[in-house]
Amino acid sequence: MRGVRCQRCGHMFSLSRAQLEIALEELANGEKSHYTLECPRCRHIVKVARHSLERMRPRGEERG
Ligand SMILES: [Zn+2]
Repeated sequence: MRGVRCQRCGHMFSLSRAQLEIALEELANGEKSHYTLECPRCRHIVKVARHSLERMRPRGEERG
């Protein structure tokens, strides 16, 4: 599973399934190309591109 890396402190973390669903839903309307979240370690804002989110999503759940 791919994670997200904070550009400030280098901390690697992954989104929970629920966070991932929220993120993809937020980007689904096409207004934004990146989802932003806080690094759990330093609270720096980390941008995650939509294609990265899609790669994190488990396979076999592409319905809908
Ligand atoms: Zn950080």
